[in-house]
Amino acid sequence: MIYKLNKNELNLDEFGIKYGFMDGSIDFNPVNESARKEFLNIVSEDYSYEIKQSHGININVLDEKFKENAKNRRSFFDNGDADGVFTGRKGIVLCIRTADCVPVLFAGFKGKTVAAAGAVHCGWKGAYGGIIKNAVSILVNRFDIDAGAILAVIGPSICKKCYEVKEDFLNLFLNQNNLNINFFQQNTEKGNDKIFFDLKSFIKNELIFNGLNGRNVFDINKCTMENEDFFSYRRNKTDKRQVSFISIMSKL
Ligand SMILES: [Zn+2]
Repeated sequence: MIYKLNKNELNLDEFGIKYGFMDGSIDFNPVNESARKEFLNIVSEDYSYEIKQSHGININVLDEKFKENAKNRRSFFDNGDADGVFTGRKGIVLCIRTADCVPVLFAGFKGKTVAAAGAVHCGWKGAYGGIIKNAVSILVNRFDIDAGAILAVIGPSICKKCYEVKEDFLNLFLNQNNLNINFFQQNTEKGNDKIFFDLKSFIKNELIFNGLNGRNVFDINKCTMENEDFFSYRRNKTDKRQVSFISIMSKL
């Protein structure tokens, strides 16, 4: 199944964007050709692009050079480490794999036209390291899009009730910024020392801090750990991953 926002909340289709967050019905892996083929058939696309995710903050931009390299290939796995990818080209399905980490999909507008789309894999390391700032900066500086004209959609990922962390994790974030205390909760009902992190809110705050309008930040509101339709590393240490995707449609 593919999850999307309700159309009355945000209808990206009408702007020529194809996007979605797939559940665990496909274990998506860039070197698994049959999984990728099955996925491409489901989304009715010819072409996908994946990256070798490494919990870093690098983001790839697909340019003309990529176009040459990619000619005549059904799919492309870029094994240079990156955790996000953006393009202004039509017809390339940008893919991100997750199992509790947060998939964030981006669409940058010039007027009513989508000038760039992107997908970012954002776990705590990437969020802490500034991948959201990088993502917004690429849309603003490389694609010349106003931050106020960027939409972001947060996909299925671990929620604030499920993401238990240790004290040194809390301290790492507090050393970066005291105000980060707002994204942590100590839950005395579940036991005295338990600390929980709200990664999705941390990411939303990063998006807004870097110039997005809060009304342009959307959340699919699904927890991967609580919902067994999704893969969840925290639930059972799985090495399987679900796919989130976005593309600018080649035909409208
Ligand atoms: Zn949860």
